[in-house]
Amino acid sequence: MFHSVFQIFKIGIGPSSSHTMGPMTAALEFRARVKEAAEQPKSDLKAPLRLVCRLMGSLAFTGKGHASDRAVCLGLLGFEPDNADPEPTQAQLAQLAERKSLELPEVGFVAFDPETDIEFDMDETDLAHPNTLSFELRNPDGLVFLKETYCSIGGGFVVTESDVKDGALCALPKQESGVPYHFNSMSELLALCAKEKLSIVEITRHNELALQEKDDFESQLTRLVTTMERCVERGLHSEGQLPGGLKVERRAAKIFRRLGEEKLSNTTRPHMANDWMCAYAMAVNEENAAGNQVVTAPTNGAAGIIPAVMRFYCEHIETGTVPMVKRHDYLLVAGTVGSIIKQRASISGAEVGCQGEVGSASAMAAAGLCAVLGGSNEQIENAAEIALEHHLGLTCDPIRGLVQVPCIERNAFGAIKAVSAASLAMHGDGQHIMPLDNCIEAMRQTGLEMSSKYKETSQGGLAVNLPEC
Ligand code: SF4
Repeated sequence: MFHSVFQIFKIGIGPSSSHTMGPMTAALEFRARVKEAAEQPKSDLKAPLRLVCRLMGSLAFTGKGHASDRAVCLGLLGFEPDNADPEPTQAQLAQLAERKSLELPEVGFVAFDPETDIEFDMDETDLAHPNTLSFELRNPDGLVFLKETYCSIGGGFVVTESDVKDGALCALPKQESGVPYHFNSMSELLALCAKEKLSIVEITRHNELALQEKDDFESQLTRLVTTMERCVERGLHSEGQLPGGLKVERRAAKIFRRLGEEKLSNTTRPHMANDWMCAYAMAVNEENAAGNQVVTAPTNGAAGIIPAVMRFYCEHIETGTVPMVKRHDYLLVAGTVGSIIKQRASISGAEVGCQGEVGSASAMAAAGLCAVLGGSNEQIENAAEIALEHHLGLTCDPIRGLVQVPCIERNAFGAIKAVSAASLAMHGDGQHIMPLDNCIEAMRQTGLEMSSKYKETSQGGLAVNLPEC
């Protein structure tokens, strides 16, 4: 198999890839499905019709906090995750709330009141996937004309309910045929690298270039890099309270300012190296919590780690200007590790807990950093394994379903672990006891046995231990 890194890194909006981007994509798909059905010669899809959306499982429990309802509206209005500029989206959402109807292609205006036609169904338990949502187009008598049920499987990926097989942790992103190198695990990738005498980044680059023109490939990668960098920068200069009612104050800008002042006055203490990383990661996750543009890496909840480590590498490890190609290499290696984890286990907090989100992102960043530091293929594998291993068992328990506490700080620690893992791996020769593939399998098994209370339902852990104020 080979999955393009562009299936792992996607530009979108916060706060959650599975609870925001996934529902938005599902709504967009349903909109396209309606158009297709309405274009059929004998179609009876004609107004007056009513549209109803049902959010189930984890989407019902924490959908409000993750703005899943807003995301559904945006998708139904035709906005795509990587193109949802704040101003037009706000204007159209306000119009929808007022009109209580929206226009669907080939059908015309259908009744849709976001307040009452988006149901948070917490009772349905017989679900193909923890993040399930359905759309129905009904006539005035309640007769269903068109229905589809989708599962948001993490990282913004969406499949129909019928695509999800019993017991399968996740359906896979599109596999790419027509590439020169196929591998199903890190051990297969390492064997391939040894046989071909190529590095991991060379294998990935050869595969990607078999799928697209060099210019397109490079400009897509550069767009990911610059979107990540802009997101860090925005977060480092934004202050105030985050939305959602938890009264969480942004902290990244303040920390960043203080670090800058201490650096200028030569009072920097050694332990503060980590504080820079914290500021960078928290900047991204504060932007995500605010519903602004981020790159899923590999999810929104864990979006801060990969950009933070990249910025740390560019500003604190390398002394000169880091060429864009180095940042491309970093993302290519990180994306390759992410796609192996996604293929063999999961990157979804609703499926395996936070180990699948922050743990995966940390492993990806560790691998990417190790690669640009000149690590061998074996050291890269070792770096990813160290970072993932020390996130095993990590639960997902966001307070009030908001991607804020513990998520924002958790990204800071994911970044710190990633840098330490890369550094530790560079001290060795790549030989170690626990292979990455086995560690991924341990994560999959742990996730399967984890109570659903700790899988993005906000029914356990920190989410139920907030002191009353
Ligand atoms: S706790 Fe982890 S998995 Fe859960 S929402 Fe936060 S970052 Fe995502």
